[in-house]
Amino acid sequence: MKELVDKLSEKHSLSESEYAALIRGRALDITAELAGLAVQTRRAIYGNDVFTRGLIEISSICKNNCLYCGIRKDNHNANRYRLTEDDILSCAAEGYRLGFRTFVLQGGDDPFFTDPVLCGIVYKLKENHSDCAVTLSMGERSRESYKQLFDAGADRYLLRHETADPEHYARLHPKEMSFANRMQCLYDLRDIGYQVGCGFMVGSPFQTPETLAKDLKFIEEFKPDMCGIGPFIPHHDTAFRDMPAGTVEETLYLLSIIRLIHPPVLLPATTALGTIDPNGREKGIQAGANVVMPNLSPVEVRGKYELYDNKICTGEESAQCRQCLDTRMRAIGYRLVVDRGDIKRQTEVNSNV
Ligand code: SAH
Repeated sequence: MKELVDKLSEKHSLSESEYAALIRGRALDITAELAGLAVQTRRAIYGNDVFTRGLIEISSICKNNCLYCGIRKDNHNANRYRLTEDDILSCAAEGYRLGFRTFVLQGGDDPFFTDPVLCGIVYKLKENHSDCAVTLSMGERSRESYKQLFDAGADRYLLRHETADPEHYARLHPKEMSFANRMQCLYDLRDIGYQVGCGFMVGSPFQTPETLAKDLKFIEEFKPDMCGIGPFIPHHDTAFRDMPAGTVEETLYLLSIIRLIHPPVLLPATTALGTIDPNGREKGIQAGANVVMPNLSPVEVRGKYELYDNKICTGEESAQCRQCLDTRMRAIGYRLVVDRGDIKRQTEVNSNV
C-alpha cells in the first residue's frame, strides 16, 4: 500500500488495478497518510483558502427517473416547485451581498427551462454581477444548447458522470438514459470552453472497487476542473430506500486520492457529506477538499429539493449558512474567501510551488 501511495503522489497516476487495490486496502494508517499528502498538495496551490459557491436550487421538477434520486419523475410524493426568474435574481443579489462570487444554478431536468429562458437568466445574472462566475448544473442538454448558454455568459457546468462503468450506470438509471450520452455531454462542454465538473456518489448501490477504479481513471484522464463526490444517501420514496448509505470514511479517502490524481482540481466538501456527519464538511476540507457550496435557495423551497433524506441546512437563511460555514472553517484554520474561485492552471501552479 505504501508503494501505491508514493507512486500516486509522485506520478498522479495509477493503473486501474492499482486504484482498485488502493480502494480495497483502505485502513486507518493509509487514510491518514493520504490525507496528509492531499492537504500538503492543496496547500501548495491554494494555501488555506476555501472557495464558496452559492447554490440556488431552481427547480425540483424533473423529466428523468434516476433510480437513486428523490426528485425522480415517478416519485409522486415529491414536492415540486420552480423558482421564477425574479426569485433567482434576488437569491443571487442576496448572495452577492454576503460575499459569494459564484452562483450555481442546479435543478431537475425541468423542460420549462428552455434555452431562451435559461439564457435570459444567465445573461441577467452576468449583467447584474459581472465579477461573478455562473455555473450551471441542469443536466443533459444538446451541444447546441450548451453552446447558447455559454454564449449567454455561463462559465462552468457541473454534470456528474455518476459512474464510469457502463454496466453500473445501467443499474442506476432507467433504460432510456444513456451512459454514452452523459459522457458525450462532458466532452461537448469541455470543447465549448466551459470549466467542467464531473463526479459520482460514494457507496452508490452496486458500486465496487473496480467501478470506483474506473471513476478514478476517468478523472485522471479527463482532468476535470471540478469534481463533486459525496456519499449516496437513500431516499425513502425510491427503490433504493433500503440500500446502505455511503460512508464518511470512504468519501474522505476518495477525496484525498482525487486531490493527488489532479492537484489543482476544485473539490467540494459536499452537503451530502455534511448530512451523514455533523462535521463532514470540515473533515472533507481536512482530507483535501477546497470548496463549500452553501445554499442560497429561498428557505420556503429548501426542504422540497429533496434528493435524499435528512438533508442539512433546510431551515436556515442564506446569511446564517454563510456565517455558520465561516465559523466552521475558521475553527479548523481555513478561511472562506470572497473570490470567483477559478481553477489554478498548471502553469500558475508551477510558478507558485
Ligand atoms: N439534474 C441535474 C442535477 C442532479 S442533482 C443532473 O442531472 O446533473 C445533483 C447530484 O445529486 C446528482 O448528480 C447525484 O450525483 C446527486 N444525488 C442524487 N440523488 C442522490 C442521493 N440519493 N444521495 C446522494 N446524492 C444524490
